[in-house]
Amino acid sequence: MNKPVILVVDDDAQVLAAVRRDLRTRYRESYAIVGAASGEDALATIRELKARGDSLAIVISDQRMPGIQGTELLTRSRESYPLARRVLLTAYSDIDAAVKAINEAHLDHYLSKPWTPPEDCLYPVIDDLLDVWQAEYLPEAKGLRLVGHQWSPRSHAIKDFLAGNLIPYRWLDVARDPDTQGLLDAAGIGPDELPALFFEDGSALRSPEPRQVAERLGRPLSAAHDLYDLVIVGAGPAGLGAAVYGASEGLKTLLLDRHAPGGQAGTSSRIENYLGFPAGVSGGDLTRRAVAQAQRLGAEMLVPIEVCGVSFDAGYKRVTLSDGREIITRTMLGATGMSYREHPAPGASEHMGAGVYYGAATAEAPAFAGQRVVVVGGGNSAGQAAMHLSRYAQEVQIVVRRDSLRHTMSQYLIAQIEKTSNIRLRTSTEIARVEGNDHLERVAFTVGVGEARVEEVDAMFVFIGTRPLTDWLPAAVLRDSKGFVLTGRDLLIEPAFGRTWKESREPLLLETSVPGVFAAGDIRASAMNRVASAVGEGAMAVRFVHEYLALT
Ligand SMILES: Cc1cc2nc3c(=O)[nH]c(=O)nc-3n(C[C@H](O)[C@H](O)[C@H](O)COP(=O)(O)OP(=O)(O)OC[C@H]3O[C@@H](n4cnc5c(N)ncnc54)[C@H](O)[C@@H]3O)c2cc1C
Repeated sequence: MNKPVILVVDDDAQVLAAVRRDLRTRYRESYAIVGAASGEDALATIRELKARGDSLAIVISDQRMPGIQGTELLTRSRESYPLARRVLLTAYSDIDAAVKAINEAHLDHYLSKPWTPPEDCLYPVIDDLLDVWQAEYLPEAKGLRLVGHQWSPRSHAIKDFLAGNLIPYRWLDVARDPDTQGLLDAAGIGPDELPALFFEDGSALRSPEPRQVAERLGRPLSAAHDLYDLVIVGAGPAGLGAAVYGASEGLKTLLLDRHAPGGQAGTSSRIENYLGFPAGVSGGDLTRRAVAQAQRLGAEMLVPIEVCGVSFDAGYKRVTLSDGREIITRTMLGATGMSYREHPAPGASEHMGAGVYYGAATAEAPAFAGQRVVVVGGGNSAGQAAMHLSRYAQEVQIVVRRDSLRHTMSQYLIAQIEKTSNIRLRTSTEIARVEGNDHLERVAFTVGVGEARVEEVDAMFVFIGTRPLTDWLPAAVLRDSKGFVLTGRDLLIEPAFGRTWKESREPLLLETSVPGVFAAGDIRASAMNRVASAVGEGAMAVRFVHEYLALT
């Protein structure tokens, strides 16, 4: 197989030669550095690479060229190579235009000329982009293959688990891919044993649970120590933030998640407002970086492990796992966030995972290429999902009860949606019913008090109301009327708090009504529901963990 390609495009022969020379110096062992003198040449090269079955890792293009301009070329390169990273090469005076292009064309980066010294200005950027590309890229003949039915909730659960845990795999739908039957016959796998997960060595798991997949992939599922300083329940942004700070500050730190690291943010196709990522960052990419950072600093992470309870014993906390095992810790951080409410329309629960999905737009979007999908909800998460789905689906309808998105969605997303021709906004509309046989086929919409109108729809992605994931906490951890955990001074006005709190001090800012038990992120009453605030609270919680440990 040929080396993956880094394609450089510039109409200035000297600049082109200089970029190629610098890239060759560092990357020639593993990548072929290919040049093109115009946008047209570059598109011809991309077509040739595709025809040969070669991989394209990065396209770096000058913006100002006669004929096809850089941004247009980079946008068009995505049609053939959606995973390739796209970088605009610009003069210093063009940086404003480059930032605008990044926002509009969703490019990954810009590099300003000159990029000297390359060790500081070029290689760190390219190294980072290659890391991201490598994490998502799967060579044709390699890696995991998941064979199943598109409409099977079990297939959806494994897809969601693999995608959430950033494990690259190839999805093969038995109904659409003619080669799958041969693969199943050769392994003696019957229709009632689907989905089947095939490994590189030819072995397969039949209708596995996520935990069996994790075991087979050699992921740790048991705690390495008998006692921890800090156990963090939930590996969303708050939990990951706490793991990075806890481990880096010398606490014996264990992070547990029942599904996948990244939490809600991990399911986002593009987070545009997180500090330090001017071109936005996908939830998957942010998660991959955070997990690598936490583990490098020494945090232990077990996934998928569900926590179903916690009890308190002479200052120690006993965290109970759903398989009955216990983990003992001196302090605990609850960071289990929240999840979407189920859609109340008749038929929605029967089709869950079979055309009705909750927050799973990134995992399922490719399966709905060329089809009609509905996004229910008017918040930022719904807007991001609609934008992501619009890259695959023929038509995306956003359905909201209100008369506009103005009060619920950020302006930058509203502007993007308005500019996207295959997204249609249906205001003052509700989903009255969901219909189909073994999968979702039709949805009944009502506008105002009018008659329900039934339309054919292939999938419905639901992003409505949220509920805190706090059922696993005992009653001693006080919550507000909606179930969100109370912390710090918010506790002081709770009558129950006065009866149970026996310390001579007030609770610390993120401490719950049980000493040494902390809460951070969306699980907390009056949380800000942002990635940055969740990460910040995770980091702050570690400071209070130190204070608590110093007191005991
Ligand atoms: C699609 C989408 C897009 C978004 N986009 C943005 C954005 O652009 N900008 C922004 O600032 N915010 C955005 N948000 C909001 C942001 O993602 C959340 O505010 C943030 O993720 C909250 O982090 P958290 O760690 O508190 O909780 P969560 O992210 O909810 O993570 C909680 C974790 O706990 C785990 N868990 C739950 N129960 C248990 C249990 N019993 N045992 C073990 N583990 C458990 C879950 O599996 C999950 O991984 C978005 C949210 C969504 C859904």
